[in-house]
Amino acid sequence: MLPVVQLKGVTHAYLGDREASLAIEDLNLNVEKGEFVSLVGPSGCGKTTLLSIIAGLLQPSRGEVSVCGRLIQGPSPEVGYMLQQDYLFPWRTILDNALLGLELTGNLNAASRSKTLELLADMGLAGKEQAYPAQLSGGMRQRVALVRTLATDPGLLLLDEPFSALDYQIKLQLEDLVSETLRRRGTTAVLVTHDLSEAIAVSSRVILLQRNPGRIRRIFEVPEDIRSTPPLYARDLPGFAELFHEVWKEMELAGRESP
Ligand code: ADP
Ligand code: MG
Repeated sequence: MLPVVQLKGVTHAYLGDREASLAIEDLNLNVEKGEFVSLVGPSGCGKTTLLSIIAGLLQPSRGEVSVCGRLIQGPSPEVGYMLQQDYLFPWRTILDNALLGLELTGNLNAASRSKTLELLADMGLAGKEQAYPAQLSGGMRQRVALVRTLATDPGLLLLDEPFSALDYQIKLQLEDLVSETLRRRGTTAVLVTHDLSEAIAVSSRVILLQRNPGRIRRIFEVPEDIRSTPPLYARDLPGFAELFHEVWKEMELAGRESP
């Protein structure tokens, strides 16, 4: 089967007034269907740059990106992108916010509307459909943003630190909810996080980047028993702490070696 994401020699330089700075260099990576991978690495190693490139929001200076076998040349409804901030429209109800992507892609109909209502209920938001974002907690708003992203049924979900602004307990609950929902739907996902334990708890592979320029330093496979356990409980499994320390050590080295 064709990988969902295929990166070939992806390089990106940001052009300033006087100089160009190389953010990522020669990245090669495949993400298979149904995989949940995490990108971790020191701040500035190019995680957000890479995600924006996969989302089609940024054209790489060099290299190729395909999603489901098609070259990416701009944003596509096949790719859902969720950010740390929820970006809900304050003047729209929760339901209308959740339906926004369907509206924009011309896919809003009775069936997609009722599926969105189901998704809201799955995310514990039943009864909140007619509320406004300001009436909801941060964790709830992030769940609405996730529903909005999933409502268009993207083949690929990109998540840039979606839990990092939340309280620890809410963050753990949301990790469970998201990983369970994605597993059930077989959604392929790429998560950017600075939280190593989150990366190990939710994903099947942890991709460690190093900076200046951003390159893949090492890829860690998460053992099957950790992978198949809900994130909250995965943290207690034997092997979790060892893997955490292994990734941690390597990340420290990566931080020390880069200029
Ligand atoms: P991360 O998300 O891993 O923290 P980024 O992708 O945001 O890293 O940034 C990678 C590198 O590119 C950093 O050195 C950063 O300063 C630089 N960079 C990011 N965005 C821009 C931009 N719009 N213009 C110029 N340089 C940028
Ligand atoms: Mg970033």
